[in-house]
Amino acid sequence: MSRLYVWENIEYHNNNMHERFLLHTCCAPCGIAVIDELRKSYDLWVLFYNPNIHPEGEYLKRKQEVVRLCEEWGVPMIDEDYDVAAWDDAVRGLESEPEGGKRCAACFRFRLFRVAKIASELGFSIFGTTLSSGRNKSAAIIDPVAQEAAEAFGIRYLAEDWKKGGRQEMARKMVCDRNIYRQDYCGCRYSLSERHPDAESYPG
Ligand code: SF4
Repeated sequence: MSRLYVWENIEYHNNNMHERFLLHTCCAPCGIAVIDELRKSYDLWVLFYNPNIHPEGEYLKRKQEVVRLCEEWGVPMIDEDYDVAAWDDAVRGLESEPEGGKRCAACFRFRLFRVAKIASELGFSIFGTTLSSGRNKSAAIIDPVAQEAAEAFGIRYLAEDWKKGGRQEMARKMVCDRNIYRQDYCGCRYSLSERHPDAESYPG
């Protein structure tokens, strides 16, 4: 069941001057500079939908940092389900693909189609994702999938390479200033065991 966080200090929300924008956020380090930029020009809502993250303790830790940012800036946040079984189905048969390969393409597609569907059902006219902020994430792969999802649900997608324009450097500083948790692997159990072959004992 999804959950909605709405804060007391909402500055931009319900302002008809701004278009409603749903921003899929994968984690706080990837999202911080994007949220800060978009909240100034849109009626911005954040959506946390990342059932790829393993283990659950890590998922909760990443989510909590996004909650912290949204609370700081008064940005409403939708916490969507942690439906791991559905994500597992989406990448079945691609488990041994390397990071950046076909499993990642399926992972992007799975999340972005769900994001576009939620955005459309909730009446947003435009959505975006922070996925391209990731060091190893290519906007050239992410944007066409998101665009396809946008067309399927009759809304718009803001294509942007969030690594560019000095945002990566800005994000690093903002994360450091707030002492935000920064993970050292992408998210799924396969990327975890690539990074930490002793993953069974990784603190979740
Ligand atoms: S490595 Fe990252 S993008 Fe690729 S499948 Fe795993 S969680 Fe998804």
